[in-house]
Amino acid sequence: MNDNSQASDQSAYHCPLCQANDATPALTKNGYMIVRCSACGLLYVHPIPTDAELAAHYQQHSYFEGDTDQGYLNYAKMEKALLPHFSRRLRYLTEHLGGPGRLLDFGCASGYFLALAQQAGWQVTGVELSQEMARIAAERVSPGGGQVLTTLDALGDAEFDAVTLWDVIEHLPRPVETLTALAARLRPDGLLMLSTPNTAHWQAQRTPAAWGGYRPPSHLLFFTPATLKRTLEAGSLVRVEIHPSAPRPPLPRWVERFTAPLQARLASGSAHPWTFWLYLWRAIRMAGWGWQRLTHPKDDVYATLEIVAVKQ
Ligand SMILES: [Zn+2]
Repeated sequence: MNDNSQASDQSAYHCPLCQANDATPALTKNGYMIVRCSACGLLYVHPIPTDAELAAHYQQHSYFEGDTDQGYLNYAKMEKALLPHFSRRLRYLTEHLGGPGRLLDFGCASGYFLALAQQAGWQVTGVELSQEMARIAAERVSPGGGQVLTTLDALGDAEFDAVTLWDVIEHLPRPVETLTALAARLRPDGLLMLSTPNTAHWQAQRTPAAWGGYRPPSHLLFFTPATLKRTLEAGSLVRVEIHPSAPRPPLPRWVERFTAPLQARLASGSAHPWTFWLYLWRAIRMAGWGWQRLTHPKDDVYATLEIVAVKQ
């Protein structure tokens, strides 16, 4: 508590990135307030839930199965939707590090990326807070010599060539502290790679109620390219490169309404036959890109930010 605690609610604001105590309410979702830091512009949930509340949230079985609002409808099925992204990212790491090495996947869920990396010759370690998911991931990778832990501390001083966080950083209550701890486990010139929803995306900006990235209390932080770069630099990482991905241009409203169920089925991996619907959706998106050029040329169309950075 600081000296001004009686003055107003605002004295309780505390930016997880720059520590500033001033912010402006931006929107409310699921009963949580999301505020914008007056100093660095980061959007964050206020107040941030306690560690105990967050731990309880991720131990629920429903987080990884059956919860469309907070977690995942069925994470196992979603793997099909994740495969092309995971394969592409793994290729990037392998090429830039000159071959497979030691990989740490932080927030590894059921170990799908770990298993993919292991098959490609990487020596893999996962960290996963949800004990149920950690057990599934361990079953997957331990026969091949991989290991899965439930805390970062359990790693000791193991060193890695690459550290990955796929859609994890937006869940972290203390992102700078966690990134610093991860960077400490990278070898010099090792690579950290992560992905997160892009809050500069047109939908997050223009129709925030429809933006799936605003998902408190699972998501606590909402990044734009600028705030994400600043977070990585604060976390002892340098040569931060941002690669926007997953283009999702706006569509005319009637098309959006018509395709929303298809999008949901593709994201959850339940569309059938898969290839047909995937290519149909890609064709619709391409048409949407042309429409966007004409009607909303300033829109940021990328739904995801991917980042690569190097240990200082
Ligand atoms: Zn800030």
